[in-house]
Amino acid sequence: YVAKRSRAGVLRYDAASDPHSAGGLELMGQLRTAMEEDQLALHYQPKVSGDGARLLGFEALVRWDHPTRGLLQPADFLPLVERTHLIHALTRWVMLTALRQAATWRAQGVHTTMAVNVSAVSLDAGLLGVVEEALALTRWSPQDLVLEITETAIIQDPARARATVALLRERGVRVAVDDFGAGSTSLVHLRGLAVHELKIDRQFVSDLVAHPEDDVIVSSVIALAHRLGLVVVAEGVETLAAADRLSALGCDELQGFFFARPLPAAQALAWARAEGLTGAVVEVR
Ligand code: C2E
Ligand code: MG
Ligand code: MG
Ligand code: MG
Repeated sequence: YVAKRSRAGVLRYDAASDPHSAGGLELMGQLRTAMEEDQLALHYQPKVSGDGARLLGFEALVRWDHPTRGLLQPADFLPLVERTHLIHALTRWVMLTALRQAATWRAQGVHTTMAVNVSAVSLDAGLLGVVEEALALTRWSPQDLVLEITETAIIQDPARARATVALLRERGVRVAVDDFGAGSTSLVHLRGLAVHELKIDRQFVSDLVAHPEDDVIVSSVIALAHRLGLVVVAEGVETLAAADRLSALGCDELQGFFFARPLPAAQALAWARAEGLTGAVVEVR
């Protein structure tokens, strides 16, 4: 399967992410149990306004607290999952869990958007069903749901990506292009894609103060996004200097370790309250 996909030029063979290798098979066999037995968890990383004053939303990032291997990060298992049909179950689990959490916070007075990452292979018509189900079960409004898709997803099947994004937009869901600038043919595929948001890849953001080229790239992408009518988000904001510069450049939203790392739900809520990023958002009780 992996070899077939790689012949199509889509994926390169990589033993570490081959679900049919002994280790890979074992791990994938354990994934369904993991979903059923609460070994998977979402951590939540805040997105704040460009001036750093308001909490706007959270992004859900998956973790696997594996019984013998310890806490696994997405890079440790997502590439495997994405090569099996289990990715659909994972996408559904993440969507439902993230929106349930967001709805719970809302009931507690914390009003934010919730962003969910969607793998390339999940970016098809089936995604609409998953989104509908999660919105219905949680009574979450589509305009407060952001789906983050990577340029890689768009490049793999641009026509399918365009069709899916158009349907999501029609439904009122917001779509973000994640890791913008990290892919190779970004502008071609951006054209005609009905997204709302661009997230500048963190490789341009983290050191932008020390690297004049990064500053030029970031300011140009912010201008580009605004001229296209898109909201622009910087990920990987690690320092006050970077936050200040991005703010001065008019970046709409900021995200990164400078503000907060991805946090377990209880800590994310505590962070929001302690930071007092009140705006229209948090009612500190
Ligand atoms: P992403 O969506 O671009 O998420 C940002 C990644 O950068 C996260 O890594 C986050 O922890 C990290 N990060 C955030 N701020 C900073 C910073 O200031 N500095 C640095 N150095 N890193 C920062 P993580 O959680 O390991 O996720 C990696 C990728 O895995 C994500 O990249 C996303 O593409 C994917 N992913 C994570 N959760 C899910 C999920 O539930 N479903 C799918 N399909 N993909 C997911
Ligand atoms: Mg993301
Ligand atoms: Mg990203
Ligand atoms: Mg990334």
